[in-house]
Amino acid sequence: MLDALKKAFSGNDEHRTAPAGKKNDISREKSAVLYEKAKQFFPGGVNSPVRAFKSVYGTPLFIERGDGCFLWDADGNQFIDFCCSWGPLILGHNHPKIRERVTKTLEKGLSFGAPTALENELAELILKNNKYLEKIRFVSSGTEAVMSAIRLARGYTGRDKIIKFEGCYHGHSDSLLVKAGSGLVTFGETSSAGVPKAFAAETIVLPLDNRDAVESAFSQFSGQIAAIIIEGIPANNGLLIQEPAYVQFLRDITKQHGALLIFDEVITGFRLGFEGAAAHYGIQPDIITYGKIIGGGMPVGAYGASAELMACISPDGAVYQAGTLSGNPVAMAAGIAQLTELKGSGFYKALNAKASEFVEAIRRYIAAKNYKVKLFHVGSIFWFAFTDQEHIRTASAIDHGSMEHYKVFHRELLNRGIYLGPSGYEVGFISAAHSKIELEKAKRAIFESLDELFRHNKPAA
Ligand SMILES: *Cc1c(COP(=O)(O)O)cnc(C)c1O
Repeated sequence: MLDALKKAFSGNDEHRTAPAGKKNDISREKSAVLYEKAKQFFPGGVNSPVRAFKSVYGTPLFIERGDGCFLWDADGNQFIDFCCSWGPLILGHNHPKIRERVTKTLEKGLSFGAPTALENELAELILKNNKYLEKIRFVSSGTEAVMSAIRLARGYTGRDKIIKFEGCYHGHSDSLLVKAGSGLVTFGETSSAGVPKAFAAETIVLPLDNRDAVESAFSQFSGQIAAIIIEGIPANNGLLIQEPAYVQFLRDITKQHGALLIFDEVITGFRLGFEGAAAHYGIQPDIITYGKIIGGGMPVGAYGASAELMACISPDGAVYQAGTLSGNPVAMAAGIAQLTELKGSGFYKALNAKASEFVEAIRRYIAAKNYKVKLFHVGSIFWFAFTDQEHIRTASAIDHGSMEHYKVFHRELLNRGIYLGPSGYEVGFISAAHSKIELEKAKRAIFESLDELFRHNKPAA
């Protein structure tokens, strides 16, 4: 998504005529017609920038339907989908239990702007099965969840500044569209036009995996930092797996300075396990944000914390936050149906084991061929990086030039019926709907695509 942000302003379509147009390229005729039409309606022809395929070859695919692990586009091409709507679809597309529950609910009306029993049901399902939260508030997107969590942290501590990390994405609210300035500890610079400098001045952007930077920030801005926010596992700009000891360090230093620790679990929540990254590390953050999986494919976000912290939220407390469609019954129904499946015993064990097996087989192939590519992986999240580094923990360790490889890889995979996110900075997701048969097919397609890629880019001797 960070990549999307950068690309969003480039606005040129020249690369589309670049080395694409291979003989075996899939047909995109209908998608191309729809895209031309969409460009008359929407900036860049899309309602979210990364969908415009600016970082890969060809016109964006317009999707007609999904079922299980499959997607079909407007031209009738079928794909095994590893994007899964950017993470929400942990049960795959069009899951019968979710569809049934949603259908039953929508027959009673779509929205009331008044409390419903469904909100209680989803909240109870989450809170009874998550020891890291006492109270929760539903909103309608991840962006909204994080924006509200930041306001809560500022309201509770009475401090204005926040620390975020280069390489983490937290949605598009003003305080968080900020990138690192020059120097180790500086105020951020806005990463979007339209964000006032004064907002960026309240956000300190630091490199990940660097304790000195965090210590310096706390000494330089003593008594002014409300919170540190970090993704459960940074997965929006590659998969930047952090060492547990570093995350524990963030827990300790925030506590020591009276600041809060916010885990943005919009991706990792209900993905790494029902209790997300908090349980993955065994670390109690002060505030947790959710999105993506929590809504079963419908627009839901949430933030939660201790009862004491949540008492600051209106109408109990002085931190204002509201939403016309918050707790929407149809969205709640989808969330309830999805999370009920996830809570079932052994769900994550089976999913993560399946993902590990898939990843290990690909790693063996890469090693045997001595290809310069790494497959990073945690739980059911994976990321291909065209590098020979054993670990990538910071945004600056990513080789931007290697994204040219990803473009070729992406096209070769599409031609073989595999759909990955249209940018090399995006991670892939494995769902419960990916059966062994489809994963076997996907592996073969990945092997062939790597062979094709490295046929022209010989591995370093
Ligand atoms: C996707 C994402 C967001 C933003 O959520 P939206 O629903 O797109 O607004 C925030 N934080 C993280 C970690 C995300 O992955």
